[in-house]
Amino acid sequence: MNKLTLKDLDLNGKKVLMRVDFNVPLDDAGVIVDDARIRAALPSIHYILDQGGSVILMSHLGNPKGKMDSLSLGCVAKRLSTLLGKEVQMAPDVVGIEVEKRVVSLKKGDVLLLENLRFYEAEKKPEKDPSFAKVLSTYGEIYVNDAFGTMHRKHSSTYTITKYFPSAAAAGLLVEKEIKALSQLIEKPKRPFYAIMGGGKVSSKLGVIKELLKKVDKLFLGGGMVYTFYKAQNIPIGKSLIEEDMIEETRKILEEGKDKLIFPNDLIIADNFSNLANRKTVEAIKGIPDNWQGMDVGEKTLISWEQELKDASTIFWNGPLGVFEFSNFSNGTNQLAEYLSSLQATTIIGGGDSLAAINALGIGKMFTHLSTGGGASLEYIENGYLPAIDVLTDKN
Ligand code: AMP
Repeated sequence: MNKLTLKDLDLNGKKVLMRVDFNVPLDDAGVIVDDARIRAALPSIHYILDQGGSVILMSHLGNPKGKMDSLSLGCVAKRLSTLLGKEVQMAPDVVGIEVEKRVVSLKKGDVLLLENLRFYEAEKKPEKDPSFAKVLSTYGEIYVNDAFGTMHRKHSSTYTITKYFPSAAAAGLLVEKEIKALSQLIEKPKRPFYAIMGGGKVSSKLGVIKELLKKVDKLFLGGGMVYTFYKAQNIPIGKSLIEEDMIEETRKILEEGKDKLIFPNDLIIADNFSNLANRKTVEAIKGIPDNWQGMDVGEKTLISWEQELKDASTIFWNGPLGVFEFSNFSNGTNQLAEYLSSLQATTIIGGGDSLAAINALGIGKMFTHLSTGGGASLEYIENGYLPAIDVLTDKN
């Protein structure tokens, strides 16, 4: 990556304004369910503090419409404080005199967390108030973006703000690590290179599927998106997930990718979209009866995919193979995760639901890289760049 990174900068005595991704899942009582995203930012925070800087952290949490107590970052400040073993000051807001006073009084080694950036509409829509990014920029002498999961977005705190730091907008350590791992896939992957794509919506993955077809030796498709491909081949799909307006596009992909695409050969179907629905296994080629729907891949698919995957040198996986949130339809996703974890190959997981499945199985350490950004990692693979990385300062 030809961009300035945290390690290129002299941080001693500096106030560092850092965008992080603290968009953690909360339960109904507002308790953090998984703090992986907070942990992912720790290396950069420690580094800044060890170098004698102070840090002003900013993040979004959920999608609030205006200020909402339930989406305050207060709970994150507490958890971060425990993880760092030192006090994290919680700002009363994102902007305003009180926040400015806190920023001014920061000393070496201090950590301040701003309130949820999305309390302000201008975070997601910079054009609504260009002064929002400008005000944020006054808090730091150096800007760092370590929020990999948001770098495909042109938001005030990820994109617009960088123009106020023409020579001091740097990538954080997490972003550096993510780009290093993902660029292995798009530059010179060790072959054989296989990708597995699952998930529900084919429309959101067509771009990356097309791009992967140019790069991989085999592309395995699973999850709810395969039914649009089956329909395109006139195979009956019952009431499975379908995106009618994507049928033409999937036909083209079937033609372009005919030597590389691998589909499930058996499917677990259900008479209802529910964990307790009646189930049976069908051969994919024979199709799905009316009133039934595809929910997972079957055992034969898993056995044959394991045979096909075993000589891999590089594997990229994004998206569940079935409705993994239902325990009766999670076998395909879980068994694939377990199998990939046993391989010697470089295994890179593109965030999102695949990551959730891996974490639930407690096997995260068995993979080469688990991306913290689902959408961002797919866009990076598809386009070879991310807007919020592009605007960081170039390394001389
Ligand atoms: P995406 O956000 O496009 O990666 O899709 C993830 C979602 O796809 C998960 O919530 C899965 O439950 C869902 N999914 C996977 N397989 C199926 C299927 N066969 N039918 C319906 N939804 C599915």
